Amino acid sequence: MYRENTKKINIGEKVIGGGSPIAIQSMTNTRTEDIEATVAQIHKLETAGCEIIRCAVPTIEAAGALAEIKKQIHIPLVADIHFDYRLAIAAIENGADKIRINPGNIGDSERVRKVVEKAKEYRVPIRVGVNSGSLEKELIDKYGKVTAEGLVESALDKVRMIEDFGYDRIVVSIKSSDVMMCVKAHEKLAKECSYPLHVGITEAGTLLAGNIKSSIGLGLILNQGIGDTIRVSLTGDPVEEIKSAKIILKTLGLRKGGIEVVSCPTCGRTKIDLIRLANQVEHMVADIPLDIKVAVMGCVVNGPGEAKEADIGIAGGVGEGLLIKKGEIVKKVKEEELLETLRQELLNWNE
Ligand code: SF4
Repeated sequence: MYRENTKKINIGEKVIGGGSPIAIQSMTNTRTEDIEATVAQIHKLETAGCEIIRCAVPTIEAAGALAEIKKQIHIPLVADIHFDYRLAIAAIENGADKIRINPGNIGDSERVRKVVEKAKEYRVPIRVGVNSGSLEKELIDKYGKVTAEGLVESALDKVRMIEDFGYDRIVVSIKSSDVMMCVKAHEKLAKECSYPLHVGITEAGTLLAGNIKSSIGLGLILNQGIGDTIRVSLTGDPVEEIKSAKIILKTLGLRKGGIEVVSCPTCGRTKIDLIRLANQVEHMVADIPLDIKVAVMGCVVNGPGEAKEADIGIAGGVGEGLLIKKGEIVKKVKEEELLETLRQELLNWNE
């Protein structure tokens, strides 16, 4: 697996690469200058399971705010910088645990050198981020359009530039909203460099489209053993990104823990409000630290069978449901009491 052979890099106290567990990231969408709002959002993301957080640093005030933000949060903080190398330097001086830059858009190599020198001084890793939307014209001309080859060449050029300045705490990311191009680029990149890879599908879209594209893209990439840290990009509340990332990793068998809820799609046999119940159950179990499967099924045809496969489950009837535990029907419960009954069972779970 590629990811077992990537270089280990410390981002604050979090280690990525070298076969470490894949870290889940997100990005705040508050104004970073607004310390209170940014810290509040990071706290929500931490609770949801975010392990590394990135903030945009578009101004010197934002770079300055990082110092205070860092004091109030519990996960590593990454500064996202475009265009102005001085912001990268200020972000490092203000305690950023990693910076994300595209060396192609922060000016001449002298400016890149200054950023690298500062990163070296503070031992702060640099994520080289290449995006299909900002691929250099020469590489578009060389390959005829934006291609996976062009993206990889661009990323490796930037990596070499940083290496030439004597630094190798590097993480690489290549992003494209074209899912299959992104997959191809990662396959190629993983063969050509051993730095940890930050994987994501950029501009994936709103909740539905974004989740589908990210699941396919990340699924194809991660399942080949490629990728050391991930971000699911969604146009929406960043907490949703964390929920999606966790489900993707669990589905691929790359992360354990947490309650998995399975629920039936409902059909003409469903006689309880199962859609609402399944959503309530999913929400209710989010903070319960058990590693079990909960089934929420609509009827007694497939319901009990499916529920028996799970550790605990509900099979709906008419205005009531069966509570099934470890394959055994435990009791009948009125529909309106199903959620609370299940909650109590989970809170008192002792296996
Ligand atoms: S479990 Fe029952 S209600 Fe749900 S889809 Fe299957 S048959 Fe329909």
